[in-house]
Amino acid sequence: MAALEPSATLAMAARASALAASGADVIDLSVGEPDFPTPDHICRAAEAAIRAGRTKYTPAAGIPDLRKAVAADYARRSGLPVTPAQVIVSNGAKHALHNAFTALVNAGDEVIVPAPYWVSYAELVKLAGGRPVLVETRIEDDFKLSPAALRAALTPRSRILLMCSPSNPTGVVYTPDELRALADVAMEADLAVVADEIYDQLVFDGRQSPSFPTLRPGLADRTVVVAGVSKTYSMTGWRIGWTICPEPLAKALGNLQSQETSNPSSVSQHAALAALTGPQECVAEMCRAFQKRRDLVAARLRALPGVRIPEIGGAFYAFFDIRECLARSRDIRTSLAWCEALLDREQVALVAGSAFGSEGHVRMSFAASEEKLSRGLDRIEKFLADAAV
Ligand code: PMP
Ligand code: GLU
Repeated sequence: MAALEPSATLAMAARASALAASGADVIDLSVGEPDFPTPDHICRAAEAAIRAGRTKYTPAAGIPDLRKAVAADYARRSGLPVTPAQVIVSNGAKHALHNAFTALVNAGDEVIVPAPYWVSYAELVKLAGGRPVLVETRIEDDFKLSPAALRAALTPRSRILLMCSPSNPTGVVYTPDELRALADVAMEADLAVVADEIYDQLVFDGRQSPSFPTLRPGLADRTVVVAGVSKTYSMTGWRIGWTICPEPLAKALGNLQSQETSNPSSVSQHAALAALTGPQECVAEMCRAFQKRRDLVAARLRALPGVRIPEIGGAFYAFFDIRECLARSRDIRTSLAWCEALLDREQVALVAGSAFGSEGHVRMSFAASEEKLSRGLDRIEKFLADAAV
């Protein structure tokens, strides 16, 4: 416990809210949380569930209708048949990841995590007794893991490859061929794969983001897909995510959950059911809005002196390289110091790259209105122009 880090994204968001509560005009672009309200038909389904008395324990693995809906939605979009028994509904994708690592990792097992990585991966692996093996990727390669780098990271203790595409924190989306090449190495090395596909529907410019098990026959037997409603339907607070995996493992995850947390909120499950089975236009609409914001943020960041960003194909993050800015700065040496100075001087909250295993970079969430993003970028521009930076 003493070695466990708090979530840096949530910590920065808490700091920004505290500052805002004290009256400061803070522009919080730290946490990755869609700013849209949860669509009305979903909220109404939750209200109806409460009125209908669906306020009691449910089966620990989730209500049968929701497990069925997740399986059907996944099968429709991926083309891979899955059964409801393969689906375990959890308290958000974060909990789903915790379940997966707890079940799959033995003491000392290595989990290969391409860096930069989402803050919670390394800590969740350590909590399960495993060792995260961070494999650095470079902005020049759009922060993509190469098959050669994956091969070089393999040891006899390698157990799991963790993939996140579209990526948090980089917004990068692997092409199907790139994923296939990594899948081949994973299969050769007999690795299990945890594929975090929580942003799979937030992709831009007509890109495809195929689900990992669809890439090669046999992959479904070794992959745990993690997803949920938080990002796709703007439902972060409802806490519904899930795993899709081979049935014997799903059964074990259900048992684990029955002992640890019981069912996720019954009302939220009914809301998630409405999200998956109701009209999907809201997803396309939010995705279009994120793409517009991506255009704005990418263009403005690219124009800043010394700032570099990769090609942002999905999710809602810009992960930019500030190494040149740090090298030029009189007194700011690290991405954390840079973010702290930006918050102090210009009241803009971002998250330091070091939290994602990639010093010299900074993450901006663009899950905010264009007006807010523009004002935030104006302030960042001013901050950079300041002689002290
Ligand atoms: N994976 C990634 C890559 C994420 O960005 C998030 C968002 N926090 C999660 C998992 C967890 O999402 P949830 O809100 O469903 O726990
Ligand atoms: N995924 C979001 C982020 O990275 C939410 C915060 C969290 O769960 O860490 O900012």
